[in-house]
Amino acid sequence: MKKITIIGAGIVGIATAAYLRRDGHEVTVVDKLPPGEYTSSGNAGILSPGSCVPIAMPGILGKVPGYLSDPVGPLKVRWSYFPQALPWLFRFVTSTRLSRIESAADALSSLLSQTFDAHRPLAQNAGCSDMIRQTGYIVVYDTDEAYRKDALAWKLRRDRGVVCNAIDAAEIHWLVPALARNYARGVHLPEQGYVTNPERLTKTLARQFQKDGGTILQREVLDIEIGAQGPTALVTDAGRMEVETLVLCAGVHSGKFSAKLGDAVPLEAERGYHVTFSDPELELPMPVASAQNKLFVTPMEMGTRIAGQSEFAGIDAAPDYGRADVLVQHMKRMFPQVREAESTRWMGRRPSMPDSKPVIGRATKYANTYYAFGHGHVGLVGSAPTGRIIADLIGGRTPNIDISPFRVDRF
Ligand SMILES: Cc1cc2nc3c(=O)[nH]c(=O)nc-3n(C[C@H](O)[C@H](O)[C@H](O)COP(=O)(O)OP(=O)(O)OC[C@H]3O[C@@H](n4cnc5c(N)ncnc54)[C@H](O)[C@@H]3O)c2cc1C
Repeated sequence: MKKITIIGAGIVGIATAAYLRRDGHEVTVVDKLPPGEYTSSGNAGILSPGSCVPIAMPGILGKVPGYLSDPVGPLKVRWSYFPQALPWLFRFVTSTRLSRIESAADALSSLLSQTFDAHRPLAQNAGCSDMIRQTGYIVVYDTDEAYRKDALAWKLRRDRGVVCNAIDAAEIHWLVPALARNYARGVHLPEQGYVTNPERLTKTLARQFQKDGGTILQREVLDIEIGAQGPTALVTDAGRMEVETLVLCAGVHSGKFSAKLGDAVPLEAERGYHVTFSDPELELPMPVASAQNKLFVTPMEMGTRIAGQSEFAGIDAAPDYGRADVLVQHMKRMFPQVREAESTRWMGRRPSMPDSKPVIGRATKYANTYYAFGHGHVGLVGSAPTGRIIADLIGGRTPNIDISPFRVDRF
């Protein structure tokens, strides 16, 4: 059994810790925050093998000017940050070639199709299976034309076995009666699901990991000491910690550590926002996505959450809650009856790679170091499958999927 240190107690780090502990390793997770309080706290909660379509799709470049000039559009770039984002954006654009899209969708599908299968054993062990709901969800479009423009994305999903049933306005109303009658077209994905509280899920799994003998330390990692064979110690704000095997799961902060370990990666903070309406007086039997506005509305245990937006402004810039106000406007259009009082706003940083694929696998230089970061829009969906893969690698087992598309040196 190995002595393993994980940097990061988001959903990826905690799921990885749980799988490693199940194998009997001595596992310590180090995070400057309590578990699940960074990006993994405020996401839309969607658990969907259907998220296998990369974000960089053909034609997206043509849509960008429209997105940027629309005050309620889904994309915002802070122009002072633009020069820094440019190399990432260039790679994003070069990822839109059809052959790359097909192979990225294959890779994502192989990982994300395991989401329920990999999450359930962890949730069962922690006594929180009720948080995982497989209700399906719907994606809606204002017009037939907008739906037709997304044909490639739906084909990519269907070709990979995702059940996607096209529905009309009457069927949309029948499935989600509370939704405004603004939508001409939709797709029902009956096999997808969601988590009723992503932060509580992470915290519950973290508590169970500790009960099962794992250790969580609240410390900031300032640096990594590296010897000839790889990392030997973490320098933290509470002193030095020796490490034997290291797993890097620090979300959007992983890039500076992987670069120090010899693996520079194009990792960008794709910032998103949510507004949670704690008493919306809405009955939602399943999540609803607006494809054109790139957002999800999810019925959660603490209220109804609308989440979306992509903002490029770097990791540290202050939140622009004007982007959350945009989400409120969309919410009112989708659900005009929503009660807005008692809503909370949040900003989080998706750790995004330009080809939408996370980094999963061993470091190129060091046999004692593994990476599990860069999950972008699918960190909740991909977390438990990733954790299982890392446990397989460290345990000397062959993972049940081909992980070469996720290797760190693919750029
Ligand atoms: C608006 C929005 C909606 C989303 N919706 C969904 C969704 O519906 N489904 C889905 O699958 N995904 C969704 N995502 C994406 C998902 O939230 C992320 O991919 C996921 O949370 C990433 O998890 P993580 O564990 O990699 O990173 P994080 O949750 O960011 O965890 C990284 C941890 O590392 C710690 N850390 C970093 N640096 C250090 C350091 N130096 N020392 C110590 N600790 C450190 C941080 O404190 C943090 O706790 C959404 C994201 C946003 C913003």
